[in-house]
Amino acid sequence: MRRANHDKITAPNLGPCPNCEELMISHRVCPACGQYRGREVVAVAQD
Ligand SMILES: [Zn+2]
Repeated sequence: MRRANHDKITAPNLGPCPNCEELMISHRVCPACGQYRGREVVAVAQD
């Protein structure tokens, strides 16, 4: 049986958001504040 690196999933680069310091996936839009590289990319519902 051949087994490739099938079940080896690359771990996402988790790190604190530079804006709100929420733990988020690096190089992705922060789900908490919706910012990426200092720009608001996604509108986040705010109270
Ligand atoms: Zn954030």
